[in-house]
Amino acid sequence: MPEVADPRPRCDGGLVVGVRCSECATPSAWVVGRCPRCLGQVVPESFGPIGTVWSSANVHVAVGEYTPTYTLAYVDLDGADSIGPRVLAHLRPGGEVPPGTRVEIDGDDGGDLWFVPAGTGA
Ligand SMILES: [Zn+2]
Repeated sequence: MPEVADPRPRCDGGLVVGVRCSECATPSAWVVGRCPRCLGQVVPESFGPIGTVWSSANVHVAVGEYTPTYTLAYVDLDGADSIGPRVLAHLRPGGEVPPGTRVEIDGDDGGDLWFVPAGTGA
């Protein structure tokens, strides 16, 4: 069976690695060759580690290595000069994170992004 590239975002030096379109400024947490919105040229950019929760949910079913209850959130990452991409991340260790909560990406554990409330990270 052929190998398929892992599409999940990655961290490097505490930041989420991605690109931004040089034509329409769309940010992406995935390193792609062209803008996913307008197919324009992209340039490398790193995002976060601080961001704002857009939405969150507590998950009550086991999925893979994750045992219930765990918390997932969509986080709008801060960019250098404008808003960064929205990423799906796991709250460490779990709990409530209402929309608008400022959080900090805390690494990627080999694929899935993790976050903590802002100001409590490493
Ligand atoms: Zn674009």
